Amino acid sequence: MLGELTPAGFTVTPDPALADIIIVNTCSFIASAVDESVDEILELAEFKKTGRCERFIVTGCLPERFREALAESLPEVDAFLGTGAYHEITEVLTHPPEQGFCLLPPLAGLPIQTHNTPRTPSTSSMAYLKVTEGCNRHCTYCIIPKLRGKLRSRTITDIEIEARHLISSGFKELVIIGQDTGCYGQDLASNLPANVRIHESLPRLLEKIAEISSDTWIRFLYGSPDTTDEKLIRTVAAHENICSYFDIPIQHVSDRILNRMGRHYDKNDLLRLFDNIRKIIPDAALRTTIMVGFPGETDNDFTQMLDFIKTVRFDHLGAFTYSDAEDLSSHGLSGHVPEKIAQKRHHVLMSAQADISAEKNLNHIGHIYPVLVEEQMEAELFTGRTSFQAPEVDGIIYIDSADAAVGEFADVKICDALEYDLRGETL
Ligand code: SF4
Repeated sequence: MLGELTPAGFTVTPDPALADIIIVNTCSFIASAVDESVDEILELAEFKKTGRCERFIVTGCLPERFREALAESLPEVDAFLGTGAYHEITEVLTHPPEQGFCLLPPLAGLPIQTHNTPRTPSTSSMAYLKVTEGCNRHCTYCIIPKLRGKLRSRTITDIEIEARHLISSGFKELVIIGQDTGCYGQDLASNLPANVRIHESLPRLLEKIAEISSDTWIRFLYGSPDTTDEKLIRTVAAHENICSYFDIPIQHVSDRILNRMGRHYDKNDLLRLFDNIRKIIPDAALRTTIMVGFPGETDNDFTQMLDFIKTVRFDHLGAFTYSDAEDLSSHGLSGHVPEKIAQKRHHVLMSAQADISAEKNLNHIGHIYPVLVEEQMEAELFTGRTSFQAPEVDGIIYIDSADAAVGEFADVKICDALEYDLRGETL
């Protein structure tokens, strides 16, 4: 949307009191995201009464999921744009619809971007590079395929053009994302006859992007257990500038619960996978995401999961409690877990992970790592990330330095370890 609005002459202010137009881009993946989105809408809608705001727009997954029902409950909103309508933002602002007008295209999913799609990154130092849109799987707890449509991959040639442009604009890290990044290219291959089939795959894509500049970190997020094969692991191992970082959401380890979730692997597959990654890349950083309180989860299932994380010892772990909704197929499953029990399990799991993370962080003390410096906090204090810390979701490094440069790499010696963050100094 920034890419559309900036060339059309709109300027951005971070202060909603000064804005003529307020746009709230929303998420509706889980109940807490829906609540947060609605709270933000109600809070910012006040600026229509007290500020300069003349038009108030809500975009993204919330209107895509709840459609007309949302429009009825939020009369202060002038226009809604679903996930397939981001490119309509300039039209909606230059030719405002009547109050209450609801611009929602059919649920076709977000049109896939190309290198020609106008883009104004809202990050500095690192940029996200979206390579797929949508997902062909049917995890029973997930609304994403309904909102984003089937898997659609960009070609490597197209992604490469955008990657070159981002690198030449000064970005030092490209973070490759999609809803199910590991499946990158599967749709392109199946759409073509076998004799002309192009083999677009994540390993090939990573290789191509990594070759553009050895001074740029390449990282991919949202892999999956069944697509992280030996070829992918060896591709990461073979390239110095591809971060040895594997983000593989497993959700659960109990075979019974994985089956109910519609995930097609079992606990032994997972043990073999993480073992194999560490065999090929002993210092690889592992990140996962786990869900507690899924319908039918017993104490035994939960204990299996707790034992598993103590065995594998992930470097980073995020956990959620199951979020129920009528439009999910998991809603109809038996054995819904009371919220109180799910919260307790979440607490036990995260406490165990906090201990693991703190112990692992202690091991970094005394080591020297290249760090991407991202922000200056005070005169001689900066923050940044190593290759084993992904943006926004993992810890950071506090850097004591007189001369670090934001947006550049620096060699940092680790001096102290906090629960999730590290502290170090430049050499
Ligand atoms: S793979 Fe991810 S995006 Fe796709 S359905 Fe499962 S949880 Fe949702």
